[in-house]
Order: sequence, then structure tokens, then C-alpha cells
Amino acid sequence: MHRDLDEIKHRLIYDKRVLESIERVYGDETPDVLFSLLTPPRRLYLRINILRTDRDYVLDLLREEGYNAYPDPVIEEAIYFIIEGPNKISDYGLRVIVDKRAAESIMMGAEIYSPGVVYCDKEIKRGSTVTIYSENMIAVAEGEAYVSCEDAMMSRKGLFIKNINSLYKAPPIRELNVWKRGLVYPQSLPSMIASRLLEPKKNDFIVDMCAAPGGKTSHLFELSGGLAKILAIDHSKKRVEEMTENLRRLGYGDKIDIRVADSRYLSIDFPGLVADKIMLDPPCTSTGVRPKIYDKKTEKDLVSLVKYQEQFLREASKITRKGGLIVYSTCSITYDENEGLIKRFIEKEKLFNVVDVPEYIRRIGSEALEGLGIRFHPHKNDSPGHYMILLKKI
Ligand code: SAH
Repeated sequence: MHRDLDEIKHRLIYDKRVLESIERVYGDETPDVLFSLLTPPRRLYLRINILRTDRDYVLDLLREEGYNAYPDPVIEEAIYFIIEGPNKISDYGLRVIVDKRAAESIMMGAEIYSPGVVYCDKEIKRGSTVTIYSENMIAVAEGEAYVSCEDAMMSRKGLFIKNINSLYKAPPIRELNVWKRGLVYPQSLPSMIASRLLEPKKNDFIVDMCAAPGGKTSHLFELSGGLAKILAIDHSKKRVEEMTENLRRLGYGDKIDIRVADSRYLSIDFPGLVADKIMLDPPCTSTGVRPKIYDKKTEKDLVSLVKYQEQFLREASKITRKGGLIVYSTCSITYDENEGLIKRFIEKEKLFNVVDVPEYIRRIGSEALEGLGIRFHPHKNDSPGHYMILLKKI
């Protein structure tokens, strides 16, 4: 019996079909994999904007701001911080309960804003010491109230509590000068590797089909030395606005063609569209994302996401030129969304070969099942769970 089985069951509510899809990959190691999802990786990564600066300069600037970061030994545009924790969180009797989204950032050290709060004890006054809980009653932080519970609930906006001690602690990225100046972009190592797999070059025409908020798009542009032509598409207007702002901050917002569109119908909406390279990073169950305060996924979630992912992949196949490349990437750990879907796609279309992943990348990740791409294992690779494959159109 795994030491933490009860905690896993309480926090990761995955139905039988979802668990089977994870067990198909991880077998006996499944409890270790699931347990690792409850905690953050030890390293928090940033990508250096190599069009504007270099790594040593950013490391110096961070040191001046009081933060120690380290260069990744393999990926030259990557640096990381070491995340502190887990720290002990005490119950002060006065309680605040926050929603899942808020809890997952507060547990990493973020401040507590009123909109994320679902409950607070009426006795909380300005200056009270309080304990912050998630909805499933995991103590995520201790803090000091700026305003009373009553005021916070009435105004429903603004800072409520200062985070004094959290379960884990990572630097506040968006407050760093290097972030504000567009010299870095927060991104996991596997996500960086996905863009690297496409090896973007001068004059490549690249379509990023699910692009917002622009992490992979911006990396692709940077890797090409600012010389690839990129069409970045996303169907969410709000997320496209966020991407536009991110690319502007990085300093080349006007050099990338950004469109709001449904990528399942690109061949219809953009007649004659032919890409050299495609980045396909579709919505997924996000089962590899860490840390999770809790998560719930049903068979229906999984099946409908796989259908959605297949639609994108079919469309990607239509708009890729002969000899062109597709990277398919997800932050999911299931078999169905990854090897399962890719295997069916290759066998059905008979149009694509799997391209071998460069040796340096294979050393960072782990081979996926049946030789179909690579995986980053949350319990072994000290990273989020991630899958990716490089396909070439014959
Ligand atoms: N590649 C991004 C993250 C993408 S997350 C990065 O590296 O930063 C998946 C994205 O797919 C979301 O932004 C979502 O809005 C988008 N999406 C979902 N359905 C879509 C559709 N039908 N057409 C285009 N984009 C879609």
C-alpha cells in the first residue's frame, strides 16, 4: 500500500477510465506519479529572451534584485530558481478559504486578493494573523490581513491578506524587473523543448495553432533569430489579448501575425494556407501540471478532449507542406491524449513519419511508449508531466 494513497484519492478525483489511461503508461509507478502532481517541481524555470539580452546579464540583474537563479546545464536560454518548501503552516484559528486557482498560486507565495476568497471568519480584522485554506481544507499559507473580512467581502476587489509563510515559496515573477522589461518569459523546460524540436529558421513559415498566451510562439520567434514568419492563432479573444501584451513586452509584438480563429477550420478560413512547420499545443486534461491542490477529471472530459485534439491534428495535416514538420505537445500524462491518439493518426493518414528526437533532448526526457515521441515524467524528471512528438509529412 502506497504511503499516501488516501491523500491522492482525496485530492485527485480521476474516474476509472482516466486512471486506466495513466496506468497504461505508468503501471505500478502510478501512485508515485500522482503523488508528485501534488507538489511543485524543485526548479522553477524562466526563458531568456535571447533577441534582447544574454543569460549572464539576466543572472546578474536577478542577483541585484536579491534572487539567486542558475543556468540550466543543457538548454542555453533556460535559467531556474530553486523552490523552497514544503514549509509548516500553522492554524491560527482565524480561517480564510480560497478557490482552487487562488490556492494554487498562494501555496507558491502569491498574495491573497479578495476575488479568490470563498469564505473568511467574521472575526478577521485589519492586522489579524490568519491561515489560508483551499476548498478541500489544505492549509496553503499564513498571512496578515490588510483589511477586515467584512471589508474584503464587501469590496470584492484588491489585496486582502499579505502572504507571510506559504507551503512553498517561489520568486514573484511578475514583480521582477527582468520580467517587466521583457528580458525573460516564465516557461517550463519541457515547453521550451517543444519549440526547440521545430528548429525554427530564417524564412520558415510557422503556424502555431493554439498559441495563447504566446509562450511557444515567442520562443519559436526567438530561436529563429527573429527571422521566421509566424502565424499565431487562438480562438479566445481574451487570451489573444494577453498574448498580444506578452509579445509587446518581449519587444516584437508587431512582427508576429496574430489572429483570433478556430484552428479546426484553418483550411477553410485561410484558403491556400500552407505551412513549413506547425506547433500544435492543444487544450488537454492538463493532468501533468504541478502543483495541484486538487483535480477532477471524468471519462467524458478525457474522451471529448481526445476528439478535439484529433480535429486539430487532422487540420494540421491538411495545411502542412510535403516534407513539413508538426510538433504535437500536451501537458497531459494520459495514454489516450498522447501516444494513443498519435498512433491512430499515423496509421490512418499514412502521411507522417516519426522523426527521431536529438540526443541532447532524449537525455533530458524519457522515451514515450512504442517509440512515439518523448515524455517528461513528473516523478522522475523533476518537471511537469509533458508529452511531445515531432512528425514529418512524407
Ligand atoms: N501554446 C500556448 C498554450 C496553449 S493552451 C503557450 O505555449 O503559451 C491551449 C490554447 O488553445 C488556449 O489558449 C485555448 O484558447 C486554445 N484553443 C482552444 N480551442 C481552440 C480552437 N478551436 N482554435 C484555436 N485555439 C483554441
